[in-house]
Amino acid sequence: MRLVCFERLSRDARDALTSSGTEALGPAGFALDGFAPIGRGARRIGALLGAGRDAGTIVDLGRALAVKLALGDAGAPEAEADSLIPCDPLAFLAHGSRSLTAARRALDFVLESQDRYDAPDLRAAGVLLPRSAVRLHAPVPRPGKIVGVARNYADHARERGDAAPPQEPVLFLKAPSAVIGPEDDICVPGAVSEPDYEGELAVVIGRSARNLERDAALSVVAGYCVADDVTARDFQNVRGQRFLGKSCDTFAPLGPCLVTPDEISDPQDLGLVTRLSGEEVQSARTKDMHFPVAEILAFASRLLRLEPGDVILTGTPGGVGAARSPARWLQDGDVVEVEIERVGRLRNYVRRERA
Ligand code: ZN
Repeated sequence: MRLVCFERLSRDARDALTSSGTEALGPAGFALDGFAPIGRGARRIGALLGAGRDAGTIVDLGRALAVKLALGDAGAPEAEADSLIPCDPLAFLAHGSRSLTAARRALDFVLESQDRYDAPDLRAAGVLLPRSAVRLHAPVPRPGKIVGVARNYADHARERGDAAPPQEPVLFLKAPSAVIGPEDDICVPGAVSEPDYEGELAVVIGRSARNLERDAALSVVAGYCVADDVTARDFQNVRGQRFLGKSCDTFAPLGPCLVTPDEISDPQDLGLVTRLSGEEVQSARTKDMHFPVAEILAFASRLLRLEPGDVILTGTPGGVGAARSPARWLQDGDVVEVEIERVGRLRNYVRRERA
């Protein structure tokens, strides 16, 4: 499943129908009567359809489940759907398998309906939304914590001046307030003179955990997404301000969706490419990580509790702007595109604020 956090750009069908005075009846006899309208701007949890004639369409999972329950004559379908599929991504993740099972039921209902001649009109019911009708936010817009791994690819460690890889994962914290989504811009503060990109695989935690064994560590993963660990090198290196250099507002683009582990059989076998305004600048495979995901999680969980919605940035391969000759810093109007096989493509424009 490819989960997204999205915002409706238009009013819900129910809202549009009632405000025009028409009875709120979907075709094929499905009554939206009794359903509360979902307003413009409401944030919802969705699934991105990847194949078939509806590729790119978003399924509003809560609404899908409510329609399914209503067709089954449930008493309060919307309230039940809301409690099973909370709209807040952190609450959704904290509910664990309960929300995931409900999300899957909702998605299966939609997929099965597509093959039925007597299916309810899921577009009219506000369940299926064209991509143009929504704005995508980060799958986890405000994680509890973002833990980064420094120099986890040998070629990046070398280009940053390390002779040998570290003995254990070197972790740092990045402010959760830095997160932006796939449709937001990276805004570089005027005080930053050396902004740089770092394409990375992000791991989102789905279960509270301490002291994980390496072999079982991946069981706490809710899913994977693409990240850009944007870094102000002048603050990180020259001024020794690692935290600030990593934590400027908008310096943690995340998205476009959260891909659940059933679609990623091995997180250490994924191709990663970063393009800067069209030029390929990073290309690697996740098998080249010095510490694989399971080892990072096991190591970190010996010292701190991993919680649902925490994000682990697993490190960037060689090819960052700082290592190029001459150095290539992010410029106003640049577009950074990070693409990870089977996970997705994250694309953000760069804007520079005035100094
Ligand atoms: Zn990084």
